[in-house]
Amino acid sequence: MLLTDLHGVGPKLAEKIKALGISQVEDLLFHLPNRYEDRTRIHPIGTCRPGQRVLIEGRVEHAAIVRARRSMLVVVLSDGTGRITLRFFHFHAYQKQQLGKGSLLRCFGEVRVGFQGLEMVHPSYNRLSSYDEAPIADRLTPVYPTTEGLGQSTWIKLTDQALALLRSGELALQELLPKALLRQLKFASLTDALDYIHRPPPDADVTALTLRNHPAQKRLAMEELLAHNLSMQKLHRLQREQQAPGMSSHGDAESIFLQGLPFELTAAQNRVVAEIHADLGSSKPMLRLVHGDVGSGKTVVAALAALRAASNGHQTAITAPTELLAEQHLRVFSAWLKPLGLEPVWLSGKVTGKKRSAALERIGNGAKLVIGTHALMQAGVQFRQLGLVIVDEQHRFGVHQRMDLLNKGGTGNQQAHQLIMTATPIPRTLAMTAYAGMDISVIDELPPGRKSVRTVVMSNQRRPEIVQRVATACANGQQAYWVCTLIEETDTIEAKAAEEVAENLRNELHNIKVGLIHGRMKSADKQQVMDAFKAGRINLLVATTVIEVGVDVPNASLMIIENAERLGLAQLHQLRGRVGRGSNQSSCVLMYNPPLGDLARQRMEIMRETTDGFRIAEKDLELRGPGDVLGTRQTGMLQFRIADLARDADLLRLVPPAADALLESAPLQADRLIQRWIGDASRFAGV
Ligand code: ADP
Ligand code: MG
Repeated sequence: MLLTDLHGVGPKLAEKIKALGISQVEDLLFHLPNRYEDRTRIHPIGTCRPGQRVLIEGRVEHAAIVRARRSMLVVVLSDGTGRITLRFFHFHAYQKQQLGKGSLLRCFGEVRVGFQGLEMVHPSYNRLSSYDEAPIADRLTPVYPTTEGLGQSTWIKLTDQALALLRSGELALQELLPKALLRQLKFASLTDALDYIHRPPPDADVTALTLRNHPAQKRLAMEELLAHNLSMQKLHRLQREQQAPGMSSHGDAESIFLQGLPFELTAAQNRVVAEIHADLGSSKPMLRLVHGDVGSGKTVVAALAALRAASNGHQTAITAPTELLAEQHLRVFSAWLKPLGLEPVWLSGKVTGKKRSAALERIGNGAKLVIGTHALMQAGVQFRQLGLVIVDEQHRFGVHQRMDLLNKGGTGNQQAHQLIMTATPIPRTLAMTAYAGMDISVIDELPPGRKSVRTVVMSNQRRPEIVQRVATACANGQQAYWVCTLIEETDTIEAKAAEEVAENLRNELHNIKVGLIHGRMKSADKQQVMDAFKAGRINLLVATTVIEVGVDVPNASLMIIENAERLGLAQLHQLRGRVGRGSNQSSCVLMYNPPLGDLARQRMEIMRETTDGFRIAEKDLELRGPGDVLGTRQTGMLQFRIADLARDADLLRLVPPAADALLESAPLQADRLIQRWIGDASRFAGV
């Protein structure tokens, strides 16, 4: 049913509402209130407390336009139990009349403390002719998320109509949750749940509703989680039905490569490589997530996969989410694979003009190894025979981006194999949602000889001690990072702050070479600094969080993180992973700006207690919620309308079995669920 079928909705209003993703009456019902107001009771003015949002009634004792810096209309209202001032900064002349002395008003607004006792600024109000005139609301009043020019009264009018259509059965919303699940979780029917959420009774648990923790909302969250799992699984099933180039072991490149490495693969690496090689050998596309904590050695695994593709005449595309990380891959892969005759092509957003054309040409001509940032996923890039796509730190990319890359294949009806690598230790429950339908390999072992990083937490009042510690470490031939953190500031501000920190440290530490790296620097300059640090020509590297992922300098064994309290656990864990990569005992100082809040203290504590990424991730999920764990807030990969992976964690384990059962026994119902919550998901499939 179209929005324009409702009373009072013309094309113009429909257009406005459409901007919020609502085009059908049904969608309107899934646009849920953010909060509720209780207009079911009239509060005696004498009992009102600051901060309350309440309904009051009273007679105007006094009204006047007061001319201060700007004029305002000030009205004093009394109901016999007390007085309250109403203040209007914007008003029309007729309002002075309407709100004149003796008028009877019913107002709703937030009670605040003003100059003359309690007041309400711009309350909503009605003029009554007698006290018992207008009926009071018998349900809580919903407040909807909205945009410019769409008032709450419009939302109420629209949802009133939609709910009436739903109750009368004219608007049929199919129940899509399996009956067994509804019974098991004691969920209300869809109609009852929607009715409750949009118009809760006065005795409803408003706290639960506001937190979206009410069973009526939970059942919608369950639908949405199911829909996401189903769409991911369907996408991946569709992909698996494609043909892929089977790649068998050819020649001796792989053994030459392994012999040339300065280390032996760990048992875990060997196992994962074998799993990947088995997948690549099949003519069904590989769809594998390699999950290994920071420093577990995923890169070499990726290199072996790329070698297998190359020796079968296929191209491999390797993408990483940041310039710095992608560049590091370029360096490592060049060093490893050039001796075997594989010269990587480099493509990032900063490669422009002739260089870009040259890179595109080599890619189009079938260069075996292509490394880059998301620039690889953009228009204009066309492969000749893409056989393998490797995405590092997948959680930073969206699903569509991965699909965009897959579609640049140039292999006719064949599809490339996909290898996704992530260091974010994803709790299992999350993995089941974010990576539904993928095979998962885990590198659950660190290379031998790694000592776990010792972590201490210190207030920045002890900065001199910390600086001394850096001095001593560097004097002993160790290298250190000093990480400056600013959150939600621009690159420029962050760069400036880092420059200042570096300058101060240079003044404090005379015999030590201090380097600086931040996001505003040109790539070549960044590279120069990284090279100097790697070669030991810089002792202390002052850095912004650009070094968060991927940077690998084994001799660096001390890390100071300034304002550590501002960072989330995932980020702290990634950063700390930059040390502890060599044979020295490494340490990490989490320096904070006191006082430490409760959440920050808990984060510092878990960091001090463990280096186990999985434990840290579980704690992160508990403290912050999964958008942050997966880094999806930025990418929109897992954006939910209602569900929240942390709040609804209790539902997650029920999702995979329910999804499997639905796909098996009621595939059409599964499609409808996807359609309801995600829309046309097949747009990802590219098939
Ligand atoms: P990550 O999994 O975080 O991407 P890397 O692939 O960057 O880890 O590996 C971290 C470091 O460990 C690199 O310096 C790499 O050369 C080294 N490394 C990888 N595998 C082994 C191994 N089996 N033995 C010793 N060092 C290894
Ligand atoms: Mg890595």
